[in-house]
Amino acid sequence: MDPFAIDRRRFIGFVGAAAGASCASFASAFAATRRPLPLPLIMLDPGHGGLDPGCIGVSGIYEKDVTLAMAMSLAHDLEASGRYRVRLTRSDDDFVALFERVERARKAGADLMLSIHADALPEEHMRGASVFTLSEQASDREAAALAARENKSDLVAGIDLSHHTAEVSDILFDLARRDTNNQSIRLARDLVTELGRRVRLLNHSHRSAGFAVLKAPDIPSALVEIGCLTNRQEEAQLQLPAYQRKLAAGLVQSVHDFFNNPTRA
Ligand code: ZN
Repeated sequence: MDPFAIDRRRFIGFVGAAAGASCASFASAFAATRRPLPLPLIMLDPGHGGLDPGCIGVSGIYEKDVTLAMAMSLAHDLEASGRYRVRLTRSDDDFVALFERVERARKAGADLMLSIHADALPEEHMRGASVFTLSEQASDREAAALAARENKSDLVAGIDLSHHTAEVSDILFDLARRDTNNQSIRLARDLVTELGRRVRLLNHSHRSAGFAVLKAPDIPSALVEIGCLTNRQEEAQLQLPAYQRKLAAGLVQSVHDFFNNPTRA
């Protein structure tokens, strides 16, 4: 990645400065877009934990243990690539509330969030990995709720919305949220492509829903169901280091693809 590339967070901040500011702050905001960037920060979110086991596999394995093992292995591989900083929303068997997971990602300034889960499907023969992004409807609802809750004084994508008129902050908030949704869809496509090259996918491999952990308005996010614990064969595979390495390779390559082509629609 070009270390001087204009990153989206600073660019949105730049637009924000331009919308309400003098020539001097316009110039300094533009200069800030040309500073070398720190490595992108990836927030990995192992689903469930503590009192919440998640789904329970046919042989009794807990989803919370499968997701933590996968996230730890993925964190290692992403860091080993030398291209990213990585944090986890939990690194032990702890219960972390859903809103708290999003807050941890936003406070850390994450550039990308991947939530890791394992599926439970109604028919035992159903199996395969799949990817979720936030549905547009859920996104609209969440945006309205966040705007009401924070009274538009929250920092979104590096912009302090309280410095702008209601009209300008509405536009900026919407700009950030729509851009984030588009980036999340692009991320999901990369995930489906790269996982599909290595492991079996569910028939409907990219779906959308109102998952709470996908609701950060300024962090591209996807939720990956790495396989299905209600299918005996896949439950066994998910515990094999060789299979976990295949999944991790697909997830790492998806993150590379995402950052290698930031302007793809
Ligand atoms: Zn889950």
